Amino acid sequence: MTDGLTPDQHIAISERWSAHNYHPLPVVLTHGEGAWMTDLNGKRYLDFLAGYSALNFGHRHPEIVATAKAQLDRLTLTGRAFHHDQFGPFCRELAELTGTEMVLPANSGAEAVESAVKIARKWAYQIKGVPDGAAEILVAGENFHGRTTTIVSFSTDPEARNGFGPFTPGFKVVPYGDADALRAAVTENTAAVLLEPIQGEAGVVVPAKGYLADVRQICDDTNTLFVADEIQSGLARTGTTLALDHEGVHADLYTLGKALGGGIVPVSAVVGRADVIGVLRPGEHGSTFGGNPLACAVGRTVTRLLATGEYQERSRELGAYVHSRLSELEGIAEVHGRGLWASARIADGGPSGREVSEALIGHGVLCKDYHSNLRIAPPLVITREEIDLGMDALAAVLG
Ligand SMILES: *Cc1c(COP(=O)(O)O)cnc(C)c1O
Repeated sequence: MTDGLTPDQHIAISERWSAHNYHPLPVVLTHGEGAWMTDLNGKRYLDFLAGYSALNFGHRHPEIVATAKAQLDRLTLTGRAFHHDQFGPFCRELAELTGTEMVLPANSGAEAVESAVKIARKWAYQIKGVPDGAAEILVAGENFHGRTTTIVSFSTDPEARNGFGPFTPGFKVVPYGDADALRAAVTENTAAVLLEPIQGEAGVVVPAKGYLADVRQICDDTNTLFVADEIQSGLARTGTTLALDHEGVHADLYTLGKALGGGIVPVSAVVGRADVIGVLRPGEHGSTFGGNPLACAVGRTVTRLLATGEYQERSRELGAYVHSRLSELEGIAEVHGRGLWASARIADGGPSGREVSEALIGHGVLCKDYHSNLRIAPPLVITREEIDLGMDALAAVLG
């Protein structure tokens, strides 16, 4: 259905009728395919954001779309009051892919994090023996875990927090990347350490080698759960199925989301140890849409695509190429990240990130800035030639 509106009219009615919690770039998109999106005027853009990693497989991946269409013609929703034929296989296949034992399906990333918090608290009271109401969860500074009231309670970003209190107690913030500070903060009431193996929204911050292994050791030494939020870093974005795989470290619980929905529907999950997720009994937790047939069918195809290792390899190879091209660019001061997930800092005295993003629109590239950084995180189906197009555009804008 097209409404016959111009791009400016679309932007104007969005401004008028939608909440102002985003500040989108002034393009109005109508189509997507692979690493490309097309706007209302028919202009094509390379997607250098990939829906914050929700589009790891690109726009409308043919196998994922075929799965979704076939499932739409069979069964879409049942509620968890009944079994359906996509549920068990999805849980088994996702657990096998991630080397875990049990799956709790949900929808949004924030919902998965909330679920992990509840599981960790219940585990602390029932198994670890923490006195009722005293469980504590340690989190990292500059974290991003979503937008619910409990999750923003332990954000260190004033924009995410201010004006949304009163906050949920039971969280303590320690500096990211500082194992000594983490060890010092653990008490006998600590249920879990919750952190991102690579901090996405903070600017693709990769901790020093050894830190995540130290976190694992501290958790082992103190009977504390390690909860890794891999909603953005997981599912091949960094060149391995999970970002923790780079360090050979296993978490007790992982939160997954974004790419798990194949760019089509929201699908998230907590995956991990059966003796931990197993603390949940019927009636204690749930979700109307969590684990629905369409979500499970899509999630199964995503899991099958990931099981080939092809996307992890693309991320490693093309990621190395992106990092080397970025670091050669005039006007870029610093590049960091892992795999096809890079953050490039614009040199002092250069344009702002927003100015670069806006100028890139004219060159047919859509990318996300924050402060003076650009995030380069295209779909993993992008080709080397397409990366070159994007890098040439960036060079033209910066030069
Ligand atoms: C995006 C994100 C979330 C929240 O996911 P939503 O689907 O937006 O609720 C949580 N944790 C991390 C690391 C994320 O990147």
